[in-house]
Amino acid sequence: AKAAGRNGYVTFETAMKDRANARQQLEGELRQAILNREFDLYYQPQVEARSGRVIGAEALLRWRHPRRGFVPPSEFIPVAEETGLIEKLGEWVLKEAAAEAIRWPAPIKLAINLSPVQLSRGNLTDTVTQALRLSGLPPERLEVEITENVFLEDEVNNLAVIRQLRSLGVSVALDDFGTGYSSLSYLTRFPFDQIKIDKFFSMNLIERSDCATIVSSVITLARGLGISTVAEGVETVRQFELLREAGVDYFQGYLFGHPVPASALNFGAAHDITR
Ligand code: C2E
Ligand code: CA
Ligand code: CA
Ligand code: CA
Repeated sequence: AKAAGRNGYVTFETAMKDRANARQQLEGELRQAILNREFDLYYQPQVEARSGRVIGAEALLRWRHPRRGFVPPSEFIPVAEETGLIEKLGEWVLKEAAAEAIRWPAPIKLAINLSPVQLSRGNLTDTVTQALRLSGLPPERLEVEITENVFLEDEVNNLAVIRQLRSLGVSVALDDFGTGYSSLSYLTRFPFDQIKIDKFFSMNLIERSDCATIVSSVITLARGLGISTVAEGVETVRQFELLREAGVDYFQGYLFGHPVPASALNFGAAHDITR
């Protein structure tokens, strides 16, 4: 709890100390969690609009803290990135998910999230190669999702890493598209196989005409560049229909399936929704 200052207000200094302490505690717990194997992967299906088939699944990291319960990735991933722990964690994600995905019916793909820190530091290409070799997963069945934050720093190095991954046969998706500053120019400057239109657009499409306009121009541009599109965060049939009419190729969202443990994944078609 925050200590109140003389006037009943939390002083700036106290708030800063609180935050620093909380962060430091989380960092310690994160280190312990890796050793204690408190992490788990959930998977969320990705569906092809045209066929209604599940064509892939995205791995999403889950941390079950022994006392605090479930800690959301939005809380611990930034700390893992700041402390460099994301390297170990990311390596675990890759190996664990690839070992899981090799059991899925081909050609269903595995998508995993990569932090900019993983591209900037260490040898990501080696880690990916190793995960593929250990699991036997063909590179064509792995897709990595990166955000445009990857290009804020270390642009030259990170572009080289992306090229290396693609030359292995791994595909690269641009995640959270439309939330950053110079998104459109990234599409022409960097080699992506797919863009994932941020859930903000799916969620606001119906109420906001500017969202619909942006979505259509993104799809036109992507098509021109030979890049496929995924809409994330699709929760309702109405959102799905509008996005499909706009020309989105693939869908992900609660309408098609929540993230679930691998054992609960269902690769059956989502015809009932897409028909
Ligand atoms: P993301 O990559 O954009 O993942 C999609 C997020 O949207 C997930 O949140 C997912 O549970 C949620 N989601 C999916 N469908 C819907 C929907 O229909 N409605 C709504 N409201 N939400 C939906 P989650 O699992 O909490 O992950 C949050 C973020 O944490 C991810 O965003 C990603 O940036 C990061 N993350 C998760 N796992 C990893 C990982 O293994 N490595 C790295 N570096 N980051 C990860
Ligand atoms: Ca994908
Ligand atoms: Ca993602
Ligand atoms: Ca996303």
